Amino acid sequence: MIKHDVLIVGAGLAGMRAALEVCKELDVGLLTKVYPSRSHSGAAQGGIAAALGNSEEDSWEEHMFDTVKGGDYLSDQDAVEEYVKAAPRIIYELEHMGCAFSRTEDGKIAQRSFGGHSKPRACFSADRTGHAILHALHEQVLKNAKSIKIYSEWYMHQLVIEEGRCSGVVVSDIRTGEVEVIHAKAVIFATGGYGRVFKITTNAFASTADGAMAAFHAGIPLEDPEFVQFHPSGLYRQGILFSEAARGEGGYLLNGNGDRFMEQYAPSRMELAPRDIVARAEQSEIDAGRGVNGEACIHLDLRHLGEARIMERLPQIRQLGIDFIGVDCVKDPLPIQPSAHYSMGGIPTDMHGQVVIDGDGTPMEGFFAAGECACVSVHGANRLGTNSLLEATVFGERTGRSALEYAKNAEFGKINESHEKARVLNQIEEIFQRDGSESYNDIRNEMKEVMMDKCGVFRDADNLKSCVAAIQGLKERCKKGKVTDKGQLFNTEVYEIIELGNMLEMAEIIATAALARQESRGGHYRTDFPKRDDQEFLKHTLVYPKNGELELKHRPVVITRYQPKERTY
Ligand SMILES: Cc1cc2nc3c(=O)[nH]c(=O)nc-3n(C[C@H](O)[C@H](O)[C@H](O)COP(=O)(O)OP(=O)(O)OC[C@H]3O[C@@H](n4cnc5c(N)ncnc54)[C@H](O)[C@@H]3O)c2cc1C
Repeated sequence: MIKHDVLIVGAGLAGMRAALEVCKELDVGLLTKVYPSRSHSGAAQGGIAAALGNSEEDSWEEHMFDTVKGGDYLSDQDAVEEYVKAAPRIIYELEHMGCAFSRTEDGKIAQRSFGGHSKPRACFSADRTGHAILHALHEQVLKNAKSIKIYSEWYMHQLVIEEGRCSGVVVSDIRTGEVEVIHAKAVIFATGGYGRVFKITTNAFASTADGAMAAFHAGIPLEDPEFVQFHPSGLYRQGILFSEAARGEGGYLLNGNGDRFMEQYAPSRMELAPRDIVARAEQSEIDAGRGVNGEACIHLDLRHLGEARIMERLPQIRQLGIDFIGVDCVKDPLPIQPSAHYSMGGIPTDMHGQVVIDGDGTPMEGFFAAGECACVSVHGANRLGTNSLLEATVFGERTGRSALEYAKNAEFGKINESHEKARVLNQIEEIFQRDGSESYNDIRNEMKEVMMDKCGVFRDADNLKSCVAAIQGLKERCKKGKVTDKGQLFNTEVYEIIELGNMLEMAEIIATAALARQESRGGHYRTDFPKRDDQEFLKHTLVYPKNGELELKHRPVVITRYQPKERTY
């Protein structure tokens, strides 16, 4: 059996930042299903927030207020305070690790505007910020190879929980198909989001809810899954992201009549209102028949910025437009539509990254989570742009430290190795045994379609009910699929089927929680309950597994400095 003091699943920003903390004193296993630098963090474009005040005076209090207001008052404010206070230090640390941030004329870290932030506080490396940070962290991880062992292209199947404590994970080496148990004093999940559940998404193929579902299968609830962020500027029909930095630099949104329609929806912030508001405005224009050429898209217009500024600040966006649809944004506007982007919900943790299993904050000993797969919750009902790279690094570090402190004083827990292995081997064998005629590709496409149509930017009870029923039908059909590749070596088909199973369960959880939340708040908008209802719903959702069904409970929101008020921009 493989053994590590601390085992981290996920090598994006959160996982690698945590590894750098733990390796100061203990030995770390860092396991990832894609090569570390292919983690979705590397696709992040626009920036990472911190109140450095390099281009305008700024303070952590303002960053905190913007975050809480942006999250429609569902954020836990004690966690937000710690997080925004840590931001400047985290940025300077990344800089010292070798992350090349773009500069002001006088050599300071440059900062630009972003939606919902009242000050320009997005630090950036042109429009490849995630790439720059991910590679800087990867270099540091490689430098610490003595104490961090990387398991690249290994797949985590499930958690091992014995006597109420997490004592390891069951994994397989994708190359050989060999199933192994990894014994650890503490396990950290940093497995990212689950945007792949939706048809139009900015997310990488690896963002499939594996971590969330492994926790859920171990009896741990998921917090606030109904809150999914739709980004206003996904490439029409494909979802690929054109960063909000395009609007931060001054880009316009135009409807089919050529009007800057944001005037009607958020007159003071216009294109730089928070994402939930801009995405709804776009969808409303499209639904009212004011899309471009009558299609389900609108225009992102950057022409007035000029070629020099576009090449300095937004070179990747220009290249994406040219490569994917042959449109050069220097000369023509880009067609865009709302695209599933970010999961505000996830595995519930306290502000030290310790996973909790109920509204009283009862810890699941030995189990920690950070980054997009976790719900701390700093983003509440809607995340502001650039706050997620910050979350992944701040809470990556904090969670790494908590796991380190825990593991230093803990013994290895119990593991029944043959039993744990058998559970995964049986699951794989059951997939091999299926001999039906259903196509997994069809099932996956139908799931994405139904989630986009019925559980997307606008939701209502009828659509959500039929969404849940449709997903349940798809889960049944999965049992009648058939694998074509029955080999052991690099059998990606089997992993895709397991991921599809995870996504279908996640989809049902999202839609069920969305149906229960009879109000509109942040990224969750109910046309049948268009108002926010603090009386009934100023609380976090917790979804539990119960005898094959879902059970919903709640946990209170922590409010310290800012009392809820109406959210206008
Ligand atoms: C296109 C795009 C642009 C973005 N731009 C910005 C931005 O400019 N600013 C900002 O703040 N945020 C941005 N975000 C959001 C932000 O990038 C992510 O929320 C953040 O990077 C998540 O980091 P993470 O470490 O939690 O997860 P990820 O970087 O997604 O990493 C997940 C890791 O988990 C591993 N993993 C998952 N499942 C398994 C399994 N079963 N077994 C083994 N390993 C597994 C993966 O291999 C991977 O290493 C953007 C997101 C997207 C999609």
